[in-house]
Amino acid sequence: MLQLFNTMSRRREKITALSDNTIRMYTCGPTVYDYAHIGNFRSFLFSDLLVRYLQFKGFKTRHVMGITDIDDKIIKRGLDKGVDPLKLALEFEGIFKEELEELNVHSVDVFPRSTELINEIIAQVKRMLGKKAAYQTKNGVYFEVAAFPQYGKLSHQNLEELSKHRIEPDEHKKDQKDFALWKITPKDEINWDSPWGKGRPGWHIEDTAMSEKHLGEQYDLHAGGIDLVFPHHECEIAQMESLTGKPLVKYWVHPEHLMVDGRKMAKSEGNFFTLNDVLKKGYSPQAFRYLCLSSHYRSQLNFTFEGLKTAENTVSGFLGFYQNVKEYKPSKEKNAGKEKKQADKEKQGGDGITELCGNALKKFEEVLDDDLNTPQALAVVFDFVKEVNKAMQEKTLGKSGQKRVIAAIERIDEVLGLLHYAKTKSAQLSEEKIKELIEQREAAKKEKDYEKADEIREKLREKGVLLEDTKDGVKFKIA
Ligand code: AMP
Repeated sequence: MLQLFNTMSRRREKITALSDNTIRMYTCGPTVYDYAHIGNFRSFLFSDLLVRYLQFKGFKTRHVMGITDIDDKIIKRGLDKGVDPLKLALEFEGIFKEELEELNVHSVDVFPRSTELINEIIAQVKRMLGKKAAYQTKNGVYFEVAAFPQYGKLSHQNLEELSKHRIEPDEHKKDQKDFALWKITPKDEINWDSPWGKGRPGWHIEDTAMSEKHLGEQYDLHAGGIDLVFPHHECEIAQMESLTGKPLVKYWVHPEHLMVDGRKMAKSEGNFFTLNDVLKKGYSPQAFRYLCLSSHYRSQLNFTFEGLKTAENTVSGFLGFYQNVKEYKPSKEKNAGKEKKQADKEKQGGDGITELCGNALKKFEEVLDDDLNTPQALAVVFDFVKEVNKAMQEKTLGKSGQKRVIAAIERIDEVLGLLHYAKTKSAQLSEEKIKELIEQREAAKKEKDYEKADEIREKLREKGVLLEDTKDGVKFKIA
């Protein structure tokens, strides 16, 4: 059974769905005023991994990722660039979704935007006022922390510790811990009508409006980077639980940060890389995906290009391995005896390959059940790769064994999400077409038309097909 570390209880808990065998999950998405950096993507890749694994375990999932498309940073950036902040937000939201696509993140069912839900936000604020959990000042409406005595329960802070934080300093607030639900804005700034005057929503209420609309008052799982525990998630809890009187979420899961030289990767630190920066340096999206898988989500991961290079080599080895297994042809002549024996064993169900695949899948699941231990899961995968390579070299892998190995790798990849890169690249050119181009290149070489031969090689390379001239002829692999 899958167990995850719950930030609320500070221990591992067995994961069960509140209802219908469906895990309803909310992830705080990006604030879209600029490109996301790869630190942000570490958090989003974690959510993707988690949804994939929940599905692997047989759960149905509903994953909502809220997009913050209005806040101080978006307004400031819009002003600096002289563009409408909502247009700016829409542009970066589009880029963000394309980048998720590049990273093979397809686990999100809905991407609501804050500005689509202004009515729902206003309705929530009204309910909080009705419950006396909020009050109005000349600057807007504030949540009254004193009305929710459990404030601090997620970040495990007592009143004294909480009092040290100065959240949105404002002389009109009853207490400095109180936080804005609705902010009255200057006339020339973007705003929406409300019963309290023209303004815009506070940060925390955007997410509770989006989650309530798409997941209900109570749901299974909430994810977001560790920096969001306080104040953001604490405030989400205060808002919703003061309204409903029941726990907002069953499991709170927080991935750790991507770091650079011991510091959190952040725009404000100036130590960040975007996905595009990484791709421009010649690394692939799958290398970053793999890098994130290679460390446990609750450990900080120090980003270096050296580390990314290692990830690149490993992931291309894994994709090459998958390709090799698919292209593997049990030799007929030399090993006819061996193969026959193997086929007999397979028929009797006693061959090593069935056992090897079964054990690998079992171990893979065991370590992932243990709070998503991806580094261990990758170690299991590479032990399996080693054994299969050995069987291919020794020609002890028969036809049905080959099918089983392919099925096992594809099952494992439902969680890892890496084979997509082998499939999509090769899908652009069919195997038949690749072979046809290789033949044309060989013919060109025979005629000493090296220019044409190089042209064909380049055309294939652009499509992600790498050629290798070996003594047994030309071989290709999908990069
Ligand atoms: P933001 O766009 O700043 O709201 O952040 C979007 C997500 O990225 C949040 O879940 C943050 O917790 C997460 N995040 C920000 N910086 C990092 C980092 N260096 N490593 C991992 N996650 C991060």
